[in-house]
Amino acid sequence: MPPLSVDEALARILDGVAPLPGEASAIEAAHGRILAEPLAARLTQPPFDASAMDGYAVRAADVVRLPATLEVIGQAAAGHPFSGTVAAGQAVRIFTGAPVPSGADAIVIQENTAPGTSARGGPIVTVQEGIPDPGNIRRRGFDFTEGAVLLEAGRRLGPRELSLAAAMGHGEVRVRRRPRVAVLSTGDELVAPGSRPGRGQIVSSNHLGVAALAELAGAQVQQLGIARDTRESLQAHLDKAGDADVIVTIGGASVGDHDLVGPVLAARGMALSFWKIAMRPGKPLMFGRLGSARVLGLPGNPVSSLVCTRVFLVPLLRALLGRPARDAAPIAARAAVALEANGPRQHYMRATTKPGSDGAPLVTPVRSQDSSLLAPLAQADCLLVRPPGAPEAPAGSLVPILPLDF
Ligand code: AMP
Ligand code: MG
Repeated sequence: MPPLSVDEALARILDGVAPLPGEASAIEAAHGRILAEPLAARLTQPPFDASAMDGYAVRAADVVRLPATLEVIGQAAAGHPFSGTVAAGQAVRIFTGAPVPSGADAIVIQENTAPGTSARGGPIVTVQEGIPDPGNIRRRGFDFTEGAVLLEAGRRLGPRELSLAAAMGHGEVRVRRRPRVAVLSTGDELVAPGSRPGRGQIVSSNHLGVAALAELAGAQVQQLGIARDTRESLQAHLDKAGDADVIVTIGGASVGDHDLVGPVLAARGMALSFWKIAMRPGKPLMFGRLGSARVLGLPGNPVSSLVCTRVFLVPLLRALLGRPARDAAPIAARAAVALEANGPRQHYMRATTKPGSDGAPLVTPVRSQDSSLLAPLAQADCLLVRPPGAPEAPAGSLVPILPLDF
């Protein structure tokens, strides 16, 4: 099998993916979840004409000629409407958020008035200056009206969406079930983070980055632990994957004597789709199906595993969540320096961006592109994509990048 192009590999991974079923979530617990259906307003907002200012509710006709002195017949505050009617020559003391009393059609701001007492001892107010601004009243339905569809299916519920959904009258929303991702680390050399590696050992790090990226994309991650490079250990760890939608393995997927992930998964019934792609970093990438689960075999190399997670797992998770695939696609940037011609494999260069002068970010590759280096990866904020056979690109060329922070 010759190596597959990245685009073909991604197309195979996404082939036949349907969004996961919806489930109910309390709005308080819905942060970060993805709407399974469009959300229509159950309420009109504001529900009544409301004052936007502290001041006096009056009849506009009474404050055409100034100064004008009006009788104050009561008070309206947020949550405490005034139940009477404002007649000619009258005003109601009003505060922000209170319903505008019937009869009144203008709000005079407090700063333009002077309170007083009438000869008979009742409260009065003198409007000294100013034409009431129509914006002092927030009209009923100014924000939205009942029935309006304001959030579409596939929308992620972030801070703004949550506030809106709550104001629309939803205490519960239908969201996509989170994709269940099981992550298996493999390798005799690996020890858990925080423990001291012995002779020939290293700390397993990738499983955390891969899981974090998957969680950012909306998944629920189960760590299956570190399997030894034996069939028995791999089997035992894979047994814990349960009903995962996606099984992600790290390492052990190339062609060495200790690379048993492929054979063990094949023995469990995995239908292999591909195991090699024309990509740098990340050549030994395996993909297949095991029952209803999709299996992604990532290279063990720390940078490769994170790059492949960003390039393949994130779009798969988005598709499972019913999110538009285009959101995970590359965006245009300008190369800040000249770029060498690329070889036959699609190259994902670790790079940093800064604001450019024409809207497109300026992108600079980090100094070392060695795929085993985590420190430069941590400095990078994007991957600069160089297609197979791309010619040399002078500084200022438009190039695609994949943001790493999202
Ligand atoms: P492999 O694909 O198993 O041959 O691993 C390739 C390289 O990645 C080796 O140097 C491994 O030690 C390293 N590696 C594999 N898994 C991990 C992991 N979970 N964390 C950090 N490095 C790893
Ligand atoms: Mg290994």
